[in-house]
Amino acid sequence: MAENFLGNYKSCVSARATDKEILKGAQDGGIVTQLFAYALETGIIDGAIVAGPSDEPWKPRPMVAMTKDDLLKSRGTRYNLCPSVSFIKEATRSYGLDKVGIVGVPCQVQAVRKGQLYPAGLRDVPDAIALVVGIFCMENFTYQSIQQLVEDHAGVKLESVKKMEIGKGKFTVKTERGAEIALPLKVTHKYNQPGDHVCLDYVAEWADVSTGSVGSPDGWSTVFVRTKKGEDVWAKAMAAGCFETKPIEQVKPGLELVTKLATEKITKNRKTLEERASFGVGKGLRNPYL
Ligand SMILES: Cc1cc2nc3c(=O)[nH]c(=O)nc-3n(C[C@H](O)[C@H](O)[C@H](O)COP(=O)(O)OP(=O)(O)OC[C@H]3O[C@@H](n4cnc5c(N)ncnc54)[C@H](O)[C@@H]3O)c2cc1C
Repeated sequence: MAENFLGNYKSCVSARATDKEILKGAQDGGIVTQLFAYALETGIIDGAIVAGPSDEPWKPRPMVAMTKDDLLKSRGTRYNLCPSVSFIKEATRSYGLDKVGIVGVPCQVQAVRKGQLYPAGLRDVPDAIALVVGIFCMENFTYQSIQQLVEDHAGVKLESVKKMEIGKGKFTVKTERGAEIALPLKVTHKYNQPGDHVCLDYVAEWADVSTGSVGSPDGWSTVFVRTKKGEDVWAKAMAAGCFETKPIEQVKPGLELVTKLATEKITKNRKTLEERASFGVGKGLRNPYL
């Protein structure tokens, strides 16, 4: 039987938020912001740890969003590391949250799940994790790398950037004044942070709900509903009219492309791990429940 590179899931759709305000500044279909906004409004969570803005342009800072306005500030993808997991204790202690939502790339989702299973450094916290939203990730960067890619390679100031996107083999920088600079992805590769080369998860397999742009048309997102909790929240959000959806089988490029990219990432990184194991460095982790 072929290996499952997409993780376990209960359903998969192409979707986008129905709230036009959310959709306007979202990276893709506004799934993360809409789902957290619904979960906040209905008390499923009392706050969400998101990658908010900071004093430096495009540098994310973990923030606890407790209102829809807070969530709106965190929309969009900041392609550099955001230490959101380290903020979990802050969320439960300083903010007093009992039901925490958190969004993260696959390695961050793994860290949250490990923290729930072995809460050595997260005493009293595991029960407070109420909704884990994962985002797909092929590669991430340090802030320094993003500065170099945008300012040296694309030739624009970070302050003037409206949106960055990775897709269709390109890293695209769109400016506030309407310019669009597309770099071939091979230019970005040497800037990938090293963890990218040992990660065996493309689609955030351990999240309650995980989402990314790949597989769906522009402005839409591919959404995997993975756990019982994810299914429950997604069904309620659907019933409340939060999302419009299309069957994933009816959109292009669909799951075929998601599977191809997940397979490429995991196969390539396994080789790196085997090489590392040959001189005694750890072997990496895939969801043992697959
Ligand atoms: C480093 C990185 C690499 C990615 N690679 C891929 C990929 O290869 N293929 C793919 O299909 N999708 C990828 N994505 C996901 C994609 O860019 C969108 O984030 C995702 O589709 C969610 O879009 P949305 O419209 O639902 O989210 P929105 O409603 O716009 O909300 C985005 C959410 O992402 C959070 N976020 C933003 N930056 C970060 C960050 N650095 N770390 C953690 N959380 C963050 C924000 O806090 C916000 O809550 C990547 C995202 C990141 C951060």
